[in-house]
Amino acid sequence: MRIYSTLSGKKEEFAPQGDEVRIYVCGVTPYSDAHIGHAMSYVIFDVIRRYLRYKKYKVKYVQNVTDIDDKIIDRANKLGIPPAELAGKYTKSYDEDMEALNIVRTETDVYPKATEEIPKIIEVVQGLIDKGHAYPAGGSVYFRVRSAPDYGKLSHRSLEAMRAAECAIGSQEKEDAMDFVLWKATKPGEPFWESPWGQGRPGWHIECSAMSLKYLGDTLDIHGGGQDLIFPHHENEIAQSESFTGVKPFVKYWLHNGLVQLGGDKMSKSLGNLITIKQALEKYSADAIRVFILNSHYRSPLTYSEEGLEAAKQGADKLASTAFRDDSTGGKGEALDAEPYRKRFIEAMDDDFNTAQAIGALFELARDINRAADAGVSIAKAQGILLSLGQEVLGLKLETTEFMGEPVPEIEQKVNRLVEERLGLRNAKQWQEADKIRAELAELGVTLEDTPEGTIIRWERKR
Ligand SMILES: [Zn+2]
Repeated sequence: MRIYSTLSGKKEEFAPQGDEVRIYVCGVTPYSDAHIGHAMSYVIFDVIRRYLRYKKYKVKYVQNVTDIDDKIIDRANKLGIPPAELAGKYTKSYDEDMEALNIVRTETDVYPKATEEIPKIIEVVQGLIDKGHAYPAGGSVYFRVRSAPDYGKLSHRSLEAMRAAECAIGSQEKEDAMDFVLWKATKPGEPFWESPWGQGRPGWHIECSAMSLKYLGDTLDIHGGGQDLIFPHHENEIAQSESFTGVKPFVKYWLHNGLVQLGGDKMSKSLGNLITIKQALEKYSADAIRVFILNSHYRSPLTYSEEGLEAAKQGADKLASTAFRDDSTGGKGEALDAEPYRKRFIEAMDDDFNTAQAIGALFELARDINRAADAGVSIAKAQGILLSLGQEVLGLKLETTEFMGEPVPEIEQKVNRLVEERLGLRNAKQWQEADKIRAELAELGVTLEDTPEGTIIRWERKR
C-alpha cells in the first residue's frame, strides 16, 4: 500500500511503526454548524480508517475538539451566552452530523476536548520553555521559531518568505514576527485557567501537540486534516512536538484533503457561501453525500453542485437496488465472479486511497450484476461482495428505499401497526382474528414468533 505524504511530496510505501496504526485528525472548533467542507474531510478519514481495518490493521484514532477559541468567545459574547454553552451545543450538533453521515466511532477512539486537557498543555508549554524553544512575554507564551531550524519543511516554504508574510501581524511582545502563541494571557470577560504565567488559555496549535502526545505517543503514523491546515497549523504542530520530545519524525505520513469549493471559491465561513451538513442532509441521503465526496480524489478540490449530488444520489440508489435485486436462479448454475472487481477495488485503494477508481470498480460490478441477472446467471455471491465493499469500506448504508414495491418507512409503520393490532386481539383472546393478521404479515414477507419476552418480527426478505 502506498500513500502520499505532504512532507515528502510523494507516494511512499505504507509501513506503520507497530501493529496498531496511530492516527490523529484535527477536529472542529464548535461555534456553528459544520459544513460540507467538514463532511468531506471526516468522510475521507473515515474511509481511510475503515479501509485499514478491512486490511486487518488495528487502528487507534484521536480527534480533538477545540472547545475554547477566539471564534467561540466572539460568537458567545454576541449571543450573550457562556462560551462553554455555545461549544457544548455545537459539539453535540457536530456529533449528530457525523452519526448521520455514518462516520464510525469505535470504543478505542478518543475525542479529547481542549478545556479538559489543560494540565497536559501546560506541561508541554513549560517543557518548551525549559528547552529554550519558548518564552513568556506579557503573560502569554510564544514559540521561538528560530529555535526550530527545519521550520517550513511541511509547507515547503523558506523562513524568510514566511517572515515576510507574517510581519504584518507581528506583536510588540514577540522576539520575532514569526513566533506564534502557545498560551494566551487572559483578557477581561474571557474564560481562563491558572498557569505558571498567570491566568490565560491555550493557543490552538499547542492543543493538537499535547493531545496527540498524550494519547498516541511521540510519533504518529498518520496525521490528517484539510489542506488549509498545512500552514501554519501543522507546521507549528511539528515544531512544537519535535522540539518538546526531541523525537523526529512527529508524523510518518501527513495526509491532507482538498477543499470544497462553491462556484470556484474555497468554502470558508469568511466568504459566507457555505452549506451546512444539516442542510445537505435535508435534500440528500448520507449515501448520496458520501458517493459525491468519494467520486473525486481526496487530494483534489471538490466543487459543490446540486447536479453532482443528484448524480451521486442516482449512483447510490443504483448500488443499493442492485445489492438487493432478486437472484432468480436460487444460487444454482453459472455464477457471476466478482473477484476481479474486488481486486481492482483493492488496487485502487492501495494506491493512495483512490476512492474514485475504487467506486468506479463498484459501479461496473453493479452494472454487470444487473446484466448477469437479466441473463439468468446467479448474482448472490457478487451481491455479497458489492455489499461488503460498499458498506464496510466506503461506509455506505445501501438501504433499499423500497420493500416489495412500497417505501421502507411506510411499510415498517404498517408492519408495526399490524403487530400491535394482533397483540391486542391476542390479549382479547380473539385467536382467529389474530391469525388473520399473521397471514397478512406473511404476505408482506414478515413472519412472527411469539416468545415469553414478546413477539419477534422477522423480515424474510432483506429490506
Ligand atoms: Zn490540529
